[in-house]
Amino acid sequence: MQQYAVPIANLIDQLSKLPGIGRKTAQRLAFFILEMENLEAQKISEAILEAKEKIKLCSVCQNLTDIDPCILCQNANRDKSIICVVEGAKDIIAMERSREYKGEYHVLHGVISPMDNIGPNDIKVKELLNRLADGKVKEVILATNPTVEGEATALYISRLIKPLGVKVSRIAHGIPVGGDLEYFDEVTLSKAMENRREL
Ligand SMILES: [Zn+2]
Repeated sequence: MQQYAVPIANLIDQLSKLPGIGRKTAQRLAFFILEMENLEAQKISEAILEAKEKIKLCSVCQNLTDIDPCILCQNANRDKSIICVVEGAKDIIAMERSREYKGEYHVLHGVISPMDNIGPNDIKVKELLNRLADGKVKEVILATNPTVEGEATALYISRLIKPLGVKVSRIAHGIPVGGDLEYFDEVTLSKAMENRREL
């Protein structure tokens, strides 16, 4: 049986690590890359390296950023008394599309998931609590996804925050259970924010 040359097999292996990329798609991408001009292929690899090198976590909100604090944290027009907690940096982009929310954010970088061995110390919960220490934050909105893990994480965080005298709310379920915040339209997201409830 004809085998791929080692460098091609390697490229396919690496590409198939990407989410949503199966073996077949990885093969198609690998051959597409091999057909590209050298300069174009180089631009792809350089963009990956540059993003990996320059993008860090904001020391305040844990958002992905190339400046620290990030643009959102530096914005004096944002309401510093309210923090919206999301699972991933992509969710901030989604929330901002709704144009409804003018407070700050906090990115957890995951959810608590005992099945996957992810506990509270594996996501940015401690960093969130640190932000509440000076008493300036009056409300925390928990905007984790409406999945089992997202709900459990919201409940866990609410139990930590409530004793601090900070109002804790959860975005409403105008959005389907099992869904992914990233893919909701503006109306659904702004409704969800509007109908958030206290936990
Ligand atoms: Zn930030």
